[in-house]
Amino acid sequence: MEDNKTPKNNKRRCSFCGRSENEVGFLITGINGCICESCSEQAYEIVQEAFHKKKDAPGELNLNELPKPKEIKEFLDQYVIGQDDAKRYLSVAVYNHYKRLLQKVDKDDVEIEKSNIIMVGSTGTGKTLLARTIAKLLHVPFTIVDATVLTEAGYVGEDIESLLTRLLQVADYNVPEAERGIVFIDEIDKIARKGDNPSITRDVSGEGVQQGLLKLLEGSVVNVPPQGGRKHPDQKMIPVNTKNILFICGGAFDGIERKIAQRLNTHVVGYGAVKDVVKIDRGNLMQYIAPQDLKSFGLIPEIIGRLPILTYLNPLDRTALRNILTEPKNSIIRQYVKLFEMDGVKLEFQPEVLEYIVDKAVEYKLGARGLRSIVETIMMDVMFEIPSQKAKTYEVTLEFAKKQMGKANISRMQTA
Ligand code: ADP
Repeated sequence: MEDNKTPKNNKRRCSFCGRSENEVGFLITGINGCICESCSEQAYEIVQEAFHKKKDAPGELNLNELPKPKEIKEFLDQYVIGQDDAKRYLSVAVYNHYKRLLQKVDKDDVEIEKSNIIMVGSTGTGKTLLARTIAKLLHVPFTIVDATVLTEAGYVGEDIESLLTRLLQVADYNVPEAERGIVFIDEIDKIARKGDNPSITRDVSGEGVQQGLLKLLEGSVVNVPPQGGRKHPDQKMIPVNTKNILFICGGAFDGIERKIAQRLNTHVVGYGAVKDVVKIDRGNLMQYIAPQDLKSFGLIPEIIGRLPILTYLNPLDRTALRNILTEPKNSIIRQYVKLFEMDGVKLEFQPEVLEYIVDKAVEYKLGARGLRSIVETIMMDVMFEIPSQKAKTYEVTLEFAKKQMGKANISRMQTA
């Protein structure tokens, strides 16, 4: 009987612990040996441990393998329409961030300083989309946080350090890894000082928060609550050094065009003034944004100084909106085509429908976000009916689109 076989009798054994087939519960056979269940479990633990050790030290970056600024921009182009200026600045900033991380600082070497970025552009022009898209190809931890949570009624707001909690979480609480990450702080304009004279009212939400943020931007060791929210006396904090964390800030800065216009008007006196006036494109003042406009808006000069790269996003015109509808890799129209394809239906839009959608977005000032609500409104009934029908194709006609929009409540489409 097989059970009585001696080793010499070719009984299968674990090549690691030497126990025979009947001494173990389970034996996995390889090409030249076997492993039992307890050895394979141990092997797994060893691998995990080694892997973890490796993870604790930040992963190696290799400049040759990292995407160059041009490649980063080309990638962004696939998803984000226009906004060339912001794309270029972002691509260079990310690439330089890698270089900084790779730099081995000798005593008298040139130390590359951090260049945090601030992007200014009306709501819905693609700031968050840019950040989300660039995140897809980053080689360091990345997170998007919202500055508004810091301001709510002053006392109720979260501590500034909690901005880094998300970064710690995406880095799996691996502190050295998080310390080289990138944080996108959205709605930075919400922490601007309201009003020109801060001494009249106590401004809990504005300047105090800005001072706190300054500490993060400058680079210092801050205590981060691991679960976010407000600091709690019993909570164990995680110290994080922000020296190498790149901060990208974004904000709509509503009304900043007025500040820009004021500045441009007051500056166009004297020699060469007339020439300057002619050149100014009043339709898009954002392109002339300068650090002093951020100061007029209510950011403290120290913060502005720590955000040395200032870039802007253009307002979306008709052409941009039309392109957004169909051009990006995951454009709204492509998404609907895909949805129908899953039901075996080929979806087509009459070209006039696309123009009509853009017209409505412009007419009701819905911006790029509104495009989706409009398409959704037009397609709702069809999406309800089509899966139960035998149709192989469906064409959205202008007449149908108009009828659907006629039934809709436009005010419900307005996004915040
Ligand atoms: P914000 O500037 O307020 O952060 P978002 O990036 O959130 O704006 O844009 C809202 C939505 O509008 C995006 O999810 C995207 O669908 C669309 N969108 C806005 N701008 C662009 C753009 N330049 N290219 C492609 N889509 C855009």
